Amino acid sequence: MLNLLRDRHAEVEARLSAACARAGRSRGDVTLVAVTKTVSVDVAALLPELGLLHLGENRPQELWRKAAALPASIHWHLIGHLQRNKIERTLPVARMIHSVDSERLLQALEQEAAKQQRHVDVLFEVNAGGEASKHGFAPAEVAGLTAAVRALRNVRVHGLMTMAPLQPPEECRPVFAALWRLRDELRRELGPPHDLPHLSMGMSNDFEVAVEEGATMVRLGSVLFEGLTP
Ligand SMILES: *Cc1c(COP(=O)(O)O)cnc(C)c1O
Repeated sequence: MLNLLRDRHAEVEARLSAACARAGRSRGDVTLVAVTKTVSVDVAALLPELGLLHLGENRPQELWRKAAALPASIHWHLIGHLQRNKIERTLPVARMIHSVDSERLLQALEQEAAKQQRHVDVLFEVNAGGEASKHGFAPAEVAGLTAAVRALRNVRVHGLMTMAPLQPPEECRPVFAALWRLRDELRRELGPPHDLPHLSMGMSNDFEVAVEEGATMVRLGSVLFEGLTP
């Protein structure tokens, strides 16, 4: 199992490095978040040996479960919808929440973070592809978030996240380019210290195009884990 994972990881690394090179970017500018939602705790526990320390889960309960079983050196990313009743248990374990998709959730996070006397790092999820089935702010809503962001004390907004529709990767490029522009607009509106350095975009189907369009975090599941027995 470890050898298979090592081979998959090496292949992904080669593709990531090539995409960075094409875009004149450094490989160090892109964090690989390994999405472990389809694999067991035992498989996830092998990843730190490969140097994979950023792991992602889309369901809060599964994130809690794996985080409790794995070493504290792992940085956990919540990449799926967060219900407000799950905030309390998620804050202590999630290094970044990529999926803030409403102002209500943002306010609830702020309140709970203040109560727990923590800071929490988040991204706004944007439904940049405009699919009805997806969570996230509509692109036109993002500029309206500036007042809410400025009022935050315990939540820090670091950028935007999106999921492109499942389609040929080249057709995802405009979605990623749109997220980049949206981030720039929000940054301009907000001004310092809100530099919004992060764009979480790119999945197994489309990560190379996402890197070419400025992704700083790619969230990869199937390209690493497909076909592995959980
Ligand atoms: C599952 C998931 C991924 C990884 O998807 P793959 O296509 O398997 O790489 C990325 N982001 C989110 C939000 C997911 O739910």
